[in-house]
Amino acid sequence: MTPDDLIRPEIRALSAYHVPDATGLVKLDAMENPYELPEPLAAEWAERVRSVAMNRYPDPGASALKAVLREAMEIPERQAILLGNGSDEIIQMILMAVAGPDRVVLAPEPAFVMYRMIAVFCGMRYVGVPLSPDDFALDPGAMLASIAEHRPAAVFLAYPNNPTGNLFDREVVEAIIEATPGLVVLDEAYAPFADDSFMRDLGRHDNLLVMRTVSKMGLAGLRLGYLCGAPAWLDEFEKIRLPYNIGVLTQAAARFALEHKPVFDEQAARIRAERERLLEGLRALPGIHAWDSAANFILFRTSQGRAAAVFEGLKGRGVLIKNLTGAGGMLTDCLRVTVGTPQENGCFLDALRATMARDAR
Ligand SMILES: *Cc1c(COP(=O)(O)O)cnc(C)c1O
Repeated sequence: MTPDDLIRPEIRALSAYHVPDATGLVKLDAMENPYELPEPLAAEWAERVRSVAMNRYPDPGASALKAVLREAMEIPERQAILLGNGSDEIIQMILMAVAGPDRVVLAPEPAFVMYRMIAVFCGMRYVGVPLSPDDFALDPGAMLASIAEHRPAAVFLAYPNNPTGNLFDREVVEAIIEATPGLVVLDEAYAPFADDSFMRDLGRHDNLLVMRTVSKMGLAGLRLGYLCGAPAWLDEFEKIRLPYNIGVLTQAAARFALEHKPVFDEQAARIRAERERLLEGLRALPGIHAWDSAANFILFRTSQGRAAAVFEGLKGRGVLIKNLTGAGGMLTDCLRVTVGTPQENGCFLDALRATMARDAR
């Protein structure tokens, strides 16, 4: 018996999610918030965590954490909350609940890669519908035709989208929610950096769910995602959630952080301001096309065939970003940079200028 005999062919064909080593590099590849908790909050946080009973299992329903979350994130009263070990685990719970050999997961393309990967893990069929190539807008005709053809059990829309950074047209999203026979999950991982949300639209549509995470707001290390929606749906997903999936340390640390949400709001405001400065810096460079962003990263395109060399040139100068050109299609020649501190962004722009000056010779 070998893996070839036993492991499902679609799993054999996958590569594991690759996380590059960032030791010693300015790390602008993973949409992390570059700011840590300021003193004296960090000391208070350590005090709080010190009092956690690590010999006991966590509160399985995480009721105290959910109460703080509901207040801090303005989750409507009638909507239920489901917690996941990162929103990745929530995607997995939703798809495990609806999976079947003929069931389809549909998302625009390019999209967050975990939608496709988890669809494959669950033995589902995945359909990607291309966005408009120049501005990454949803193509309403193509989306609605594909929904009518495939009758998806779940549609994922990242709002703003990763890796493109844009918010989709709200009316098109609403038309998709209306037309979809299954669930529509609005993935608002980048909500802290965007001006719109579907949180307040819950309750207006029976098949709408809003998923968020604390990762991009500055707590990526905790691994905490949350799903909001009608109790009738979330009660079903609760059956699939493994008991104690949110540990005592995550519950305590997230509660503390959310009680101090203004600190994170202020960091998000700084990141948003820096995003505009970074965008200007990128657009000042000949041969670079950078798109507007409603998230904490910027997608940009190099001149033809140069993305890999630019990526390596930056890395050689101590800056790690994300090379997307391998994904092909609309992302050919594209790179994605996370908005860091002013100093980190300065390093990135200096390294990019140096790389391109060398390239031009
Ligand atoms: C980062 C990201 C997530 C995953 O968040 P975790 O909570 O860290 O698992 C989900 N969706 C999108 C679109 C993301 O970019």
